Amino acid sequence: MKKGLLLVLSGFAGSGKGTIMKSIVEKYDRYALSVSATTRNPRPGEEHGREYFFMDKGEFEELIKNDKLFEYAQYVDNYYGTPKEYVEEQRNAGKDVFLEIEIQGALQIKEAVPDAVLIFVMPPSVAELKKRLVGRGTETADVIERRMKRAGEEAKGVDKYDYLLINDDIDACVEELHGIVLSEHRKVSRNMPTIDKMLDDFSKM
Ligand code: 5GP
Repeated sequence: MKKGLLLVLSGFAGSGKGTIMKSIVEKYDRYALSVSATTRNPRPGEEHGREYFFMDKGEFEELIKNDKLFEYAQYVDNYYGTPKEYVEEQRNAGKDVFLEIEIQGALQIKEAVPDAVLIFVMPPSVAELKKRLVGRGTETADVIERRMKRAGEEAKGVDKYDYLLINDDIDACVEELHGIVLSEHRKVSRNMPTIDKMLDDFSKM
């Protein structure tokens, strides 16, 4: 079985990346979505083991110490990290696995797994971003301000990514993302065993 791709999706808070992830995983069987560990508090409606594995700082630091995380980063006062085991299991089962993570983690992944595909999603404008963050109503004004500031910093790192998506319309964005993944699978560099087999068969003619 061909190992699945490691796909990293980042975007500012309020870019709609969470909705894009939920939608693509529901629509297509080929994807799995990694569940991160975090020290932030659950938002209303979030469940342990579904959106995140919620834990305290001590528990998170245990994961770091025991080398259980693929990457981790600090984001506006909290730790976030990707547990290794699930990602490897799913990729070995042939699934393309999405990590929805911020930029520091994304760059750690690129370093560790150079053929990971890094995708950045942006809202159509900064004004739209602010409107979405305020409209979501899940954060205080202070946190919104800090997340906006952080977005401004993250925007400077977008040139390290492989693809840019503009989220004007969720359905269109999901289809574009799916198209990117299908194209990645067709890259010659990802298909060397097939090519080698064909060359070998030709040589036996
Ligand atoms: P939120 O608190 O809004 O759920 O997430 C805050 C930020 O942390 C988002 O940019 C999200 O993509 C990122 N994030 C979530 N999980 C992880 C993770 O496992 N590692 C890293 N580096 N960032 C993460």
